[in-house]
Amino acid sequence: MTSYANFYRQSIDQRDNFWATQARLVEWQTPPEQVCDYSNPPFARWFVGGTTNLCHNAVDRHLAERGEQAALIAISTETDTERSYSFRELHAEVQRMAASLLALGVKKGDRVLVYMPMVAEAAFAMLACARIGALHTVVFGGFASGSLASRIDDAEPVVVVSADAGSRGGKAVAYKPLLDEAIRLAQHKPKAVLLVDRGLVPMELEAGRDHLWSALRTQHLDAQVPCEWLPSTHPSYTLYTSGTTGKPKGVQRDTGGYAVALAASMKHIFDARPGQTFFATSDIGWVVGHSYIIYGPLIAGMATIMYEGLPTRPDAGVWWSIVEKYKVTHMFSAPTAVRVLKKQDPSWLTKYDVSTLKALWLAGEPLDEPTAQWISDALQVPIIDNYWQTETGWPILTLTNGIEQQATRFGSPGKAVYGYNVKLIDEVTGQELTEPNQKGVVAIEGPLPPGCMQTVWGDDERFVSTYWSTIPGRQIYSTFDWGIRDADGYYFILGRTDDVINVAGHRLGTREIEESISSHPNIAEVAVVGVADSLKGQVAMAFAVPRDATGLENDAARLKLEGEVMKRVDGQLGAVARPARVFFVTALPKTRSGKLLRRALQAVAERRDPGDLTTMEDPAALQQVRALVGE
Ligand code: ATP
Ligand code: MG
Repeated sequence: MTSYANFYRQSIDQRDNFWATQARLVEWQTPPEQVCDYSNPPFARWFVGGTTNLCHNAVDRHLAERGEQAALIAISTETDTERSYSFRELHAEVQRMAASLLALGVKKGDRVLVYMPMVAEAAFAMLACARIGALHTVVFGGFASGSLASRIDDAEPVVVVSADAGSRGGKAVAYKPLLDEAIRLAQHKPKAVLLVDRGLVPMELEAGRDHLWSALRTQHLDAQVPCEWLPSTHPSYTLYTSGTTGKPKGVQRDTGGYAVALAASMKHIFDARPGQTFFATSDIGWVVGHSYIIYGPLIAGMATIMYEGLPTRPDAGVWWSIVEKYKVTHMFSAPTAVRVLKKQDPSWLTKYDVSTLKALWLAGEPLDEPTAQWISDALQVPIIDNYWQTETGWPILTLTNGIEQQATRFGSPGKAVYGYNVKLIDEVTGQELTEPNQKGVVAIEGPLPPGCMQTVWGDDERFVSTYWSTIPGRQIYSTFDWGIRDADGYYFILGRTDDVINVAGHRLGTREIEESISSHPNIAEVAVVGVADSLKGQVAMAFAVPRDATGLENDAARLKLEGEVMKRVDGQLGAVARPARVFFVTALPKTRSGKLLRRALQAVAERRDPGDLTTMEDPAALQQVRALVGE
């Protein structure tokens, strides 16, 4: 057996031993008595009896050995500012924030909603909550009042931490009026609002409710707020899923299990060392931001970069200039961002010295082979796909290169990660598929490993009925994604379980058709949906963003490209998968986290109401589709 295969087997067959060893990567005030309590499935309780604190592990524990080393580097190409905080400075700022929250009435177990742009104070707020045992609920700053109000009502925060404004493309985007409106709309009213004034837009403060961080910070300059030692199972935060498939779910995470899972992932997956630099280009409003901008790198004693700005401003070389300047060793981004860069001049990728980079990890959506190949050729660093969910908090499938170097297979996020007992389940029979290359629903046999969701916030019943009812009588968690596993244990994700279309009795994954279309050299990005058809049940319809749209306003040129695309699908998958139409658009409708809103696309293509669009990034993208299919 290879060393990774062996490591993996131990994690499943000797679960408690395995995780007891990993638990030593974390500092405990009281060590755990029991590794895993699974007496009430599917609810797993990890490291029962242990007490610890996430902020202690992310900040305080590093003070003695690397207090003066950079911990948090906040870069904004929006406001042209860069600010680096050592672990010691971070420690001081977090205590000031913690003291301010306590002064505003926050107690252990209370929720604090963080509605913030990508500024250092957002990190202080999250760590301060962890420090005092309050739960943070970070809501992505790009959300407007309606989405924010529904999250305020679900989380019922005592305090909201926010700012005057974010900034995008050099333009200030006011947050405060959106927050005021959200609080007005919500049933639940937070007691206080703590505001970071960046001086971007004027703010009107509501007396008695609104407080300025600058003022509270000055009052608490020398604050000493010790870490609250929390039971391992004490919830650390709640975070909503992206809402790609419908109403977002409030994921609740624990303290000790999460600390151990992240510490272990930094070691085994990222092969990270203290003093190295991690740059995740995500936002703190998403799970990648929680695990790999804030907690994971800091727990590992690394410097972490928080970036506010676009990947293309001032130019498409900006990320790589940051890599050069800060000697970034680990970079984490999303395929959607790479596709943005792919539309730019590739010479930006070779302008800077990126030789410090060990690899670029990508997650969040399928990484198609052409995109992976393109960025790999351009950067000359390993590209590592990893598959996971808000629910799990850390990768389910990837290459665990800290244990053993594994060969990359483009199109595959890799193998099952230690701790995850991954199964493929036949959708119809509910049977486990054990032969290679069989297509099934990706599922995880309970218990979920440490760090995964404890429950749906305030709704245990929704947790059980949503995720654990795939096979009656068996404790198995469904990811709602399709996959296959090859003979070597590599998985391939084929799309979401609701992304399958049925053309004249043939079940086709939209992902396969998209892969085929995006192999055309002039296609930058594509979405395929199934559209109701009276003859065939459903037909595939494609919406594609060309890399070069010159001349495409000409009917003949457009038809020619459409024909080429169809021919490709015919050749690669067969005529049954050929899209009935290929429409060319300048952008696809996406969630704020960059995920394709296929359900909205499909609804519009079928001239139905697209439903809840509060998580959508750019309404104009859907408008284009509406105009095209309406023709
Ligand atoms: P919701 O659950 O609210 O509908 P969501 O599933 O988009 O939203 P996330 O938790 O942000 O919310 O996304 C997880 C999903 O993203 C996975 O279930 C999978 O569909 C997709 N995904 C993530 N990483 C990858 C990857 N590397 N390859 C393919 N798909 C991925
Ligand atoms: Mg999901």
